[in-house]
Amino acid sequence: MSNTEVKDGMGREAGKKTCPGPILLLGAPGVGKGTQAKELVKLWGIPQISTGDLLRGNVAQGTELGRVAKEIMGRGELVPDTLVNEMVAVRLQQPDTAKGYILDGFPRTLVQAGWFDDRLAAQGQKQANAMPVVAVSIKVDYTQLLRRITGRRNCPVCQSIYNVHSKPAQRDGICDLDGAGLGQRADDSEKVFEERMRAYEALTAPVVEHYRALGRFAVVDGDQPVDVVAAGIVTAVELLRK
Ligand code: AMP
Repeated sequence: MSNTEVKDGMGREAGKKTCPGPILLLGAPGVGKGTQAKELVKLWGIPQISTGDLLRGNVAQGTELGRVAKEIMGRGELVPDTLVNEMVAVRLQQPDTAKGYILDGFPRTLVQAGWFDDRLAAQGQKQANAMPVVAVSIKVDYTQLLRRITGRRNCPVCQSIYNVHSKPAQRDGICDLDGAGLGQRADDSEKVFEERMRAYEALTAPVVEHYRALGRFAVVDGDQPVDVVAAGIVTAVELLRK
């Protein structure tokens, strides 16, 4: 996607200048937060911070956090707020976050949102040029989410995301980019998806309402081609930053 192709309703071009600052991608499991975060990374050069990826990394490395998180994630429930907040705090200390970052999958509870808002407010007091947060919620209907989740396949090497229905690999089960065998996330079964959706409705939907009420918030229809959704997010973020 060219970053000059996006125009808002008044025909103004968006995406021409870099758009740093903290960006939250919100939405139910399977709406495409990870895919969209990767598009925005290419465009803006700020890092994607996916709490799901960080937790899976801890599980793979067998850390203490990973040992606790593994069972919880396998059931489709949420990892305790204190553990996730601590993990995010450590990640946000990395220098690559200085100009901004895309949070994918965080905050997922009102406790996490409160912690994050307080952190940004404290930063704003120290740093006159600190950018306020912008939140974008991606929406996709339930049937489509289930199809996406159960069809999702991941490359364990380059982390590319495929879907057997909508974005199949050229050779079945093999990554187009590096030839690695594609895998499926343990929590992408229909049964665990239902639990993840319950957790989303009970704990994360209120977070979406929290950021809607604060303003600097937009909803984007996620049931469109990847580049169209990305363009919608770019337009929304550019307008909210004005
Ligand atoms: P995701 O890759 O974002 O779909 O997350 C996969 C799983 O990781 C979730 O179902 C949760 O168990 C856990 N997880 C990811 N992000 C969070 C978070 N912010 N708070 C609590 N648990 C999380």
